[in-house]
Amino acid sequence: MRPVVPRALDPASRDALAERMRFYRDLGLTDFYRRDVEPDAAVGDPKLDRSVAEELAEREALLDLAIADAAQSEGAPGPSHLGTAEGKQSNFFGEEPTIKTRKGFHAPEMGAVVPAEERATALQVIRDDIGDCTRCALHSGRHTIVFGDGSPTARLMFVGEGPGADEDAQGLPFVGRAGQLLNNMIAAMGLKREEVYIANVVKCRPPGNRTPEPEEANTCSQFLFRQIDVVRPQVLVALGATAATYLLGARQPLTGLRGRVHAFRGTSLIVTYHPAFLLRDPRQKKEAWADLQIAMKELGLKKAGNRE
Ligand code: SF4
Repeated sequence: MRPVVPRALDPASRDALAERMRFYRDLGLTDFYRRDVEPDAAVGDPKLDRSVAEELAEREALLDLAIADAAQSEGAPGPSHLGTAEGKQSNFFGEEPTIKTRKGFHAPEMGAVVPAEERATALQVIRDDIGDCTRCALHSGRHTIVFGDGSPTARLMFVGEGPGADEDAQGLPFVGRAGQLLNNMIAAMGLKREEVYIANVVKCRPPGNRTPEPEEANTCSQFLFRQIDVVRPQVLVALGATAATYLLGARQPLTGLRGRVHAFRGTSLIVTYHPAFLLRDPRQKKEAWADLQIAMKELGLKKAGNRE
């Protein structure tokens, strides 16, 4: 092998590399190994020209940069300040919203498996059943019912709490700043948004973005359970304490539910932070990424850099 002549990095690349190294340090990764390659072999073949670490950093940086950008655009302190947006009243503000104990809720019996080619129709039947719903108090303040979005045959499904202002206006879940972050989380897993399915515990926006009342969540979650049974994803990711509580049926601290796989209605349920919470506390990005990696493992998705 001919001696490898180190290439000089241009200032922009050097800054980008330094940024990635800082991100690695945040993740607790400090040891790196350099792999020499034949310079000629790399020319014209971008796959050979990218190190494993670069590929991994690329995906993780997607998540990191999205958090930083979104937090900045919102006026929240960036990662280096490690603060939260004090005073903002939101159901996503804290990790542990006040969720009263559920009483008298019985999850519907698990539905039969729906053939893949019939799932879109089956979802439409659920939407038709919801109709112009007035079953709970949330109907009075909504602009649009936000049913769900994505592939009816998705292997991965995300469940959030409820629509916010952007979602209420557009009729789609996760389209605001938190939605942008969720899109980047999905991309960091190596997937596209249209490959997953996304829904919420309640389908109408709670006033002032407050946490849904148990009666509202219990009334509306029957539709969510039916959506889950139709899509029957291999992996279900609960985004935040409200989703985790109303899916698993018992209030527990989020920290006690994260980091492991829960068996749930024929799927593997993984609990992580709500993207809106990550916008306000970017310190948790490392934990969120660890949760997503559990989901990737359950789905058999290779981590970036794994070329088996
Ligand atoms: S939140 Fe659900 S149950 Fe309540 S009015 Fe909206 S669609 Fe109906």
